[in-house]
Amino acid sequence: MAVTPNSELPLCFDLPKLFQKAGSALLAVDWYLGDLSTTYAKAQHLGGELRAENSGEKVVVSGKLLLNWEGPCRRCLEITDGVFEVNISEIYEQNPTEGETFGIPSTQTLDLKPMLTEQILLSLPLTPLCSSDCRGPMPEEYPANGTKEEGQNSVIEERIDPRWEVLGTMTFDEKEDNLET
Ligand SMILES: [Zn+2]
Repeated sequence: MAVTPNSELPLCFDLPKLFQKAGSALLAVDWYLGDLSTTYAKAQHLGGELRAENSGEKVVVSGKLLLNWEGPCRRCLEITDGVFEVNISEIYEQNPTEGETFGIPSTQTLDLKPMLTEQILLSLPLTPLCSSDCRGPMPEEYPANGTKEEGQNSVIEERIDPRWEVLGTMTFDEKEDNLET
């Protein structure tokens, strides 16, 4: 189901204003994404609340956001959608370390957009699946649960549904253990 835009909160915050009263502040995120997509899925909306904490030269931004996405199922090609929980834990500083922290410009503006864009692209599913038992358009000729595909995709598949993530890691570890022995 498509997300209907009704409001959009700013993603830029004036730091002195933000920490005027206290050392931490809540940042509401309500972002309708028009054109952010990968080859496999399209981001629709990112929403939730983040906490910004001022610790001297650094600002720590953390929290959980929900990402709505849609994309074609890799088996039946029907458009499917889902929601991912995106965990944010990032550091902003005056002199950022490339690839590790984000910069605070001299204007003292905290711009969440580049960081959130990065997180969204990392979180979008690589192999969307409408349901775990989707059998594809021609289940007789191309069984989706054939041994070949099962073996190749089992790990990636579990990444799709966050509820399965814990389970997936466990099974994977077990498999690895078995291989070693
Ligand atoms: Zn499907």
